[in-house]
Amino acid sequence: MPTAALPHPMTDGPLTRHDWTRDELRTLFNLPLPELIFRAQTVHRRHFDPTAVQISTLLSIKTGGCPEDCAYCPQSASYDTGVRAQRLMSLEAVLAQAQAARAAGASRFCMGAAWRSPKERDLRQVCAMVEGVKALGLETCATLGMLTAEQARRLKTAGLDYYNHNLDCSPEYYGKIITTRTYEDRLETLGHVRAAGIRVCCGGILGMGETREDRVGMIATLATLPEHPESVPINMLVRVGGTPLADTPPLDPIEFVRTIAVARIAMPRSTVRLSAGRETMSEEMQALCFLAGANSIFYGPKLLTTPNPMPDRDKALMDRLGMSPTA
Ligand code: SF4
Repeated sequence: MPTAALPHPMTDGPLTRHDWTRDELRTLFNLPLPELIFRAQTVHRRHFDPTAVQISTLLSIKTGGCPEDCAYCPQSASYDTGVRAQRLMSLEAVLAQAQAARAAGASRFCMGAAWRSPKERDLRQVCAMVEGVKALGLETCATLGMLTAEQARRLKTAGLDYYNHNLDCSPEYYGKIITTRTYEDRLETLGHVRAAGIRVCCGGILGMGETREDRVGMIATLATLPEHPESVPINMLVRVGGTPLADTPPLDPIEFVRTIAVARIAMPRSTVRLSAGRETMSEEMQALCFLAGANSIFYGPKLLTTPNPMPDRDKALMDRLGMSPTA
């Protein structure tokens, strides 16, 4: 597709579209990097303060022993990764962590549990956690696996603001990454979350051995949902020993930046989160990601079970870039 056929970010509307074709997204990916960044920046500045970064904190409230077989995940019981399975944390312990996150500047507190889907007793406890975190004045987010429509409604009633459920990759590549549930299962959970009135956090992981066409396919799926996810986490694979993807060749960082830029253009009002994998990214690469339209990060030394930059390092980076957390 010739570049001229793409809507121009300075002059053409409509601003938010749900009819992106793979051809259009492929053309964006193929743009010279300065042109792609310019378009992403232009779109970004229409909807966001380019110096503001939304900060979330992620806590693993139930770790390891997961029956699913996600090939990237150290918490799957299928792989020997040294992650020790732990039971669901107590309400008090979760609230103490939420208070600490708030004190460190987080505006949203995400609770992650390594389940295929929550059981009745689990859900009751998580609903109490959501109520407690909300009462601290934080936005709440949870990632608990697949949900039924009823479970989504109960979480909404408890005060859940966001639910994270990633598509991970393109529909075509999905079978190479997970065999224990289908892409359609994921879309169904996203539908239940949306129908319950909870905001959606949904993105994927790059560097899992997928092709650019798979990255195009993933963004196309997200950008053609009836409503764009409010939050789109883009993760770089953390290659954990013992998982099937441990020896996957690293992805070109510039390709990662391109994917952020295309996500920004295709979903102009969504918060694009630079998520897992920051620990091994250079600060210059993170700066490029912000230029490409990323406007959210996870704060805190750990992301579930993998390392994340220490908060003081992130603060120093924000200062160097002249960026600051959203209020
Ligand atoms: S990504 Fe989630 S569902 Fe998949 S194995 Fe890990 S904890 Fe389980």
